[in-house]
Amino acid sequence: MALIVQKYGGTSVGSIERIQNVAQRVAKWKRAGNDVIVVVSAMSGETNRLIDLARAIQPQPDPRELDVVASTGEQVTIGLLAMALMELGIPARSYTGGQIRLLTDSAHTKARILSIDEHNVRADLGAGRVVVVAGFQGVDADGNITTLGRGGSDTSGVAIAAAMQADECQIFTDVDGVYTTDPRVVAGARRLHKITFEEMLEMAGLGSKVLQIRAVEFAGKYQVRLRVLSSLTEPDIPVDEEAASGTLITYEEDAQMEQALVSGIAFNRDEAKVTVLGVPDKPGIAFAILDPIAKANIEVDVIVQNVGSEGSTDFSFTVHRNDLKRTLDLLAKVQKAIGAREVVGDDKICKLGLVGVGMRSHVGVASKMFEALSDEGINIQMVSTSEIKITVVIDEKYMELAVRTLHKAFGLDEPAEPALPV
Ligand code: ASP
Ligand code: MG
Repeated sequence: MALIVQKYGGTSVGSIERIQNVAQRVAKWKRAGNDVIVVVSAMSGETNRLIDLARAIQPQPDPRELDVVASTGEQVTIGLLAMALMELGIPARSYTGGQIRLLTDSAHTKARILSIDEHNVRADLGAGRVVVVAGFQGVDADGNITTLGRGGSDTSGVAIAAAMQADECQIFTDVDGVYTTDPRVVAGARRLHKITFEEMLEMAGLGSKVLQIRAVEFAGKYQVRLRVLSSLTEPDIPVDEEAASGTLITYEEDAQMEQALVSGIAFNRDEAKVTVLGVPDKPGIAFAILDPIAKANIEVDVIVQNVGSEGSTDFSFTVHRNDLKRTLDLLAKVQKAIGAREVVGDDKICKLGLVGVGMRSHVGVASKMFEALSDEGINIQMVSTSEIKITVVIDEKYMELAVRTLHKAFGLDEPAEPALPV
């Protein structure tokens, strides 16, 4: 017998039929002899709807009250799912975050989980019940309702799996796993049977939306065995088959792994590039530029400083597009103070990264990437590397071409159909 935590996202519980479908899947795992805890999101679109209601009254909603409103979507789905399970003859009980004392800090709308009271959950499991927990929400030390940030139910699922020392946390979603890249951009994208935790973290950081990045971090910290799988298959497919489906996030890089040089390509158009031109090439300048940005709580990603010539240089970095205006405003002051020539912003960029633990033991990945991009006439504006990732910033209009080109160049395309024997 195993203890399984299953998390179902908004699409998976998006209608009464889908909730009944989830109930059938959960019932199947329960009948196969497992203890099951289910974590659910609100019905798809519901959290947006609730946030819009709040904004219709307060353009900048009070964070505490916003959490009170936004957290209600999940309270609906837990109750409905518990009922759907009962209708199938499976004893079930639902809990809000507050009811299982899913304790968080008090950072409303982006709270961090501190601890979970397992008492009720263990007692219910012992009594043969399925426990259904509301994702996305918790409660702070003073009893205020908190939420964990958009997409936070993934983190709830992983945190509960960690706290309960579950054998596996299964994230059911509307895709059937983690792909080599976004299948909407590259038709030949393949599902990965396994991906290492580090690779998953890099993919999520680059914009892969399959798992919330905080969920991946949490899983890594507590070594939670995590699997991403589809909730859109027939709910009665055999448990053994389902248990081996999807993508498993592993913690060991075993030799048998599909040890490709590059495991995946992720990209996003969420960032903007800022360049400070003609800055004096002397110590303290990078600090003078970035310190006010950091103090304003703006996250900086790729940073490039050119080699100076004749005493001056250019300094570029990326920020989230939503932070571009604020960044430029802050730099207008810095520009004068340090005597820079000009500050320019560009929000028509795309950040794209190759990720693979295989890079650790291979050289030439970057040059192969640059060659493939140059063959297509794609200019690289910025580059940054880590041990298992190479990131470039390019003009956003080349995004799809670049992803397709690199997917092919690194052999990630689906193998061609074998020729028919003649
Ligand atoms: N319902 C919340 C949201 O839409 C949490 C989640 O779905 O994970 O962000
Ligand atoms: Mg989600």
